[in-house]
Amino acid sequence: MLLIRTLRARAVGRRGGHATFSTSSAAAVEAERSIREGPRNDWNREEIKSIYDSPVLDLLFHGAQVHRHFHNFREVQQCTLLSIKTGGCSEDCFYCPQSSRYDTGLKAQRMMNKDAVLEAAKKAKDAGSTRFCMGAAWRDTIGRKTNFNQILGFVKEIRGMGMEVCCTLGMLEKQQAMELKKAGLTAYNHNLDTSREYYPNIITTRTYDERLETLHHVREAGISVCSGGIIGLGEGEEDRVGLLYTLATLPSHPESVPINALLAVKGTPLQDLKPVEIWEMIRMIAAARIVMPKAMVRLSAGRVRFSMAEQALCFLAGANSIFTGDKLLTTPNNDFNADQLMFKILGLTPKSPSFPEEDAANVPERLEEIVSVAG
Ligand code: SF4
Repeated sequence: MLLIRTLRARAVGRRGGHATFSTSSAAAVEAERSIREGPRNDWNREEIKSIYDSPVLDLLFHGAQVHRHFHNFREVQQCTLLSIKTGGCSEDCFYCPQSSRYDTGLKAQRMMNKDAVLEAAKKAKDAGSTRFCMGAAWRDTIGRKTNFNQILGFVKEIRGMGMEVCCTLGMLEKQQAMELKKAGLTAYNHNLDTSREYYPNIITTRTYDERLETLHHVREAGISVCSGGIIGLGEGEEDRVGLLYTLATLPSHPESVPINALLAVKGTPLQDLKPVEIWEMIRMIAAARIVMPKAMVRLSAGRVRFSMAEQALCFLAGANSIFTGDKLLTTPNNDFNADQLMFKILGLTPKSPSFPEEDAANVPERLEEIVSVAG
């Protein structure tokens, strides 16, 4: 094992006057193992750290190999994220302009009405998005029965348009997850943000275990799990490894893993943090790709700061999902036309929607019964 974890570079021969070299980093060894044996959940933190610490070009190369083995490397999922209820959130997430605790100039709004939400979904579909995500700035949905029922209606309608539907509404109870599933929800987003150890430096109003509990309820309901984190929160590299470790050792890997780079917003406690470098993003994406080979790895917030060439490296490293549209909740996102041009130049194609939930085997047996009894 020690051999696996240690970067070795050795000359292996000299043919026709040309020296040939092989390298064997942890990224190389574990990528080959992922390809050979498929996803695994028994990672230990040291193994993931060794992958993460591999020379970045080697990590990128082997991330690309794993990516091409498990995915069509030309396909990139296009998701649109709409804030259906903006601002006024009671939580204290230090990076978030929607928290009511910080003076960021953001005005709290009521939940959008049905017509406006459906119109936005249609516009997103017409622009090529296959997944529509709705975000609400809430700690949870408990005590918001009217709003929650309205959201169930949005989910049904948007799913009826032939789009995948995702929500991010804060913490969920088991019953609510089941109702969302019944309405046709494809995925639920609930990020872990960072490592368990660093988490108290970023949010104090809910615990890491509460986040994991929500993911558990989502998984139990048969909804795809979307969970990742943010880099650039002032965390150390060991925290990035810790985040990957928690995600990669869940009983099932999340189907989607968003990797966000902090966009520091004036007025939040993290306003002065400096932006992450592209190499940090590539390192995180490639390591996520190797340890969770089947997941959709999403190049999420912060993409707006990267050039087309830099984004190309992220796709090469293993990212295969992006958010398109003018805004990511409340922060700016890439220009639509620039994204279209990027797809054309890089030879990328939009990924078609898929609806595994239509497979009856994916629905918990007693779901219908449980929901109708409780509803
Ligand atoms: S990240 Fe979500 S829960 Fe946290 S303050 Fe922002 S809206 Fe609220």
